[in-house]
Amino acid sequence: MYLYNSLTRTRELFTPREPGKVSMYTCGPTVYHYAHVGNLRSYIMEDVLEKYLRYSGYDVKRVMNITDVGHLTSDADTGEDKMLKGAKREHKSVMQIAEFYTNAFFEDCRRLNIKRPDYVQPATGCIAEFIKMIETLLEKGYAYHAGGNIYFDTSKLDKYYVFGGFTEEDLAVGVRDTVEEDSNKRNKADFVLWFTKSKFDSQELKWDSPFGVGYPGWHIECSCIAEKYCGEYLDIHCGGIDNVFPHHTNEIAQSESAFGHEWCHYWFHVHHLNTEGGKMSKSKGDILTVSVLESKGYDPLVYRFFCLQSHYRKNLLFSWDNLDNAKNAYSKLVARIAQLNPADGEADSAAFAEGRRPFTEALDNDLNTSLAITAVYDVFKLKTNDATKLALIADFDRVLGLDLIGHAEAVRKNDGTEDSGADPELDAYVKSMIEARRAAKAERNYAEADRIRAELAERGVTLIDTKEGTTYTVSK
Ligand code: AMP
Ligand code: ZN
Repeated sequence: MYLYNSLTRTRELFTPREPGKVSMYTCGPTVYHYAHVGNLRSYIMEDVLEKYLRYSGYDVKRVMNITDVGHLTSDADTGEDKMLKGAKREHKSVMQIAEFYTNAFFEDCRRLNIKRPDYVQPATGCIAEFIKMIETLLEKGYAYHAGGNIYFDTSKLDKYYVFGGFTEEDLAVGVRDTVEEDSNKRNKADFVLWFTKSKFDSQELKWDSPFGVGYPGWHIECSCIAEKYCGEYLDIHCGGIDNVFPHHTNEIAQSESAFGHEWCHYWFHVHHLNTEGGKMSKSKGDILTVSVLESKGYDPLVYRFFCLQSHYRKNLLFSWDNLDNAKNAYSKLVARIAQLNPADGEADSAAFAEGRRPFTEALDNDLNTSLAITAVYDVFKLKTNDATKLALIADFDRVLGLDLIGHAEAVRKNDGTEDSGADPELDAYVKSMIEARRAAKAERNYAEADRIRAELAERGVTLIDTKEGTTYTVSK
């Protein structure tokens, strides 16, 4: 498989250190609020990468941190701890906030068919590990005490800006809109490893350490959590593109200085989901979540489909029109699959291999998911029986995670409602609502049509518009 490596800025043949095995680390969410669908774009694409590696036969170990301490509102170590901000907003403790939003995050992942990583580690559970690495960095001369805090000394590195394309100017941007610059830093790019004395007196979570009572900086958690589960080497490190600098740059500085060797070779970064107003971000307030999508009648897998239709290294523009297009394409695809007859023959291995080729070629080419989806459509054109076509689609869906077969089965059942064992009362209600929605649309009363869709969604009913009319699925 060829993957674009942001560190070398080239497409490279992916070769893990140990043949057949992949260790993969993902920067997890900062759990002070719900994840927005932009955050989840990153996790969807990383999930596809993990699933494709497994599909290709690799034994994957995937680790994710949960940031529940230390991430400040500015990347330049100023501002307030985001967790504390969340706790104040909701009049709860930091740990209550962390637990609530961690659970909400994994619930969103479940609905988007994102597999839970093998190891999920909250930062607050690894304080001893952070202290140990900071001690190593101090012993090796890569860190210093100043103003009560411990800082990483970036001037000790031959090359700090390893990703290229970043300069001190980028740090200045982070500092500009915050109150003050940290005058303890010897070099502008230096960053905090451990806070003791600081202006964050109200910090709720503090731990004893050889450097004084305090709490860790944001970056140290990923270096240490990766080491805890994967040792001194990683194969792939993932995150959203905004993590490149300073977060991943600082992770590399810490880990490679502590270990004395290259740490992770492949860096996989997902570009942003933007709205017409710019990058979608949690701090902007109006957060577009999976629940909001559902309340508007969108199946979360339609959003997954929408993400898969474009390449992970391109910015993706979110708009309701774009999502509607994805919704229609998804339901049409499901409807076509529902027309395939599982009893038509037996899967044919030669045709199966032929149908699979464009799919693996697409994903081997830097995870080209939109071409992989084209490969699903190409299945219909194959000169083979329906059993083979269904086997291929089920096979692809191990990676795509769109529940195509499950949705198609539901459509098939609903087409023959009388004898399918479906709830006749619910069916009559849904059909009357479908009719009311059709009438509302005919009168161009789209608000009413949306309201009907949302009302049905609340009862677990998802409408699917096809050329032949509207059908529906019911989630149990
Ligand atoms: P956070 O919870 O803020 O730490 O972010 C979680 C993940 O979402 C990180 O990998 C970010 O890089 C990523 N991310 C943040 N904003 C976006 C966005 N608009 N589009 C895609 N990924 C994003
Ligand atoms: Zn990280």
